[in-house]
Amino acid sequence: VPELALIEAIRAVLPDPPQRLLRGPGDDAAVVAARPLAVSSIDTVAEGVHFELSTHSAADVGHKALATALSDLAAMGAEPGEALLAFVLPGDFSEESALELARGAAELAAQAGIAVAGGDVVRGRALVVTVAVTGWADGEEELCGRDGARPGELVGVTGELGGAAAGLALLDGRASAMSNSALREDQHEELLRRHRRPEPLLEAGRRLAAFGASAMIDLSDGLASDASHVAAASGLLLRIDLDRVPVAPGARAVATALGAEPAVFAATGGDDYELLVCSPPDRVDALEQAAEDAGTRLTWLGEVGRGTGLELVAADGEPAHGLGGYEHR
Ligand SMILES: [Mg+2]
Repeated sequence: VPELALIEAIRAVLPDPPQRLLRGPGDDAAVVAARPLAVSSIDTVAEGVHFELSTHSAADVGHKALATALSDLAAMGAEPGEALLAFVLPGDFSEESALELARGAAELAAQAGIAVAGGDVVRGRALVVTVAVTGWADGEEELCGRDGARPGELVGVTGELGGAAAGLALLDGRASAMSNSALREDQHEELLRRHRRPEPLLEAGRRLAAFGASAMIDLSDGLASDASHVAAASGLLLRIDLDRVPVAPGARAVATALGAEPAVFAATGGDDYELLVCSPPDRVDALEQAAEDAGTRLTWLGEVGRGTGLELVAADGEPAHGLGGYEHR
């Protein structure tokens, strides 16, 4: 069976297992020295849905698959633990490409301190990568869900939004008519990187949960879509001012070229993997510091009130209607 040689080659590019991984790849199942709470999540990315092999390298795909799974651990405030990887490889996908795919995931795993505990490789019709991750916590108070928001709290977001959506528009040709002068070369590269190589905010998520965030979610489908999940889970109203949305450098120019309002573009674009947090008023300073210590910054852009759902408020103070998030095709 040729896959056995490939699996062996993939194992060789994985980071060395940490001590807590008592048994890993190469046995029938992994054995991990557990902590009290296991935090689990699983994510799948598929060719033609989440990426195109014409615009993403195999390593980009490996990185992105692991990053999206780890981002969910970040949103819970969990410490990264282990990952299990499953690859469906199309028939024309070379062994070298398969190793590149594994390397893309392995580099991020090493950087994030995640151990690859096992995996599976099969041949199929399209490239599909499934990643199951486990994170750890010593008590439930260390973690943060979507349902903890309370009336009177502030709503904030890490980093800047719209970069990944702008990168996608540059890659799929929608923004190809943009004049070269509208975007600096380094901004162009950064937008592509944001789409191809999202960074899970594990450190920020852990610190924000530890320093008093009441609710948190990672922005995979876009602020407008994901904020409404927090509103629904908390049974409250989230009110967000569009003119306070931090728009990623370069994304403003791409949005304008597409005929979109930059703040609306940034609020509805997916794949940024920034974190949305709700903060009790007396935790605002601590959370700002926590974000800064994790190498990012928080922008406060709204508040939690009584009611239900999400209200996006335009610059003129009127509710902005009809802004769904980005749903993958
Ligand atoms: Mg998520």
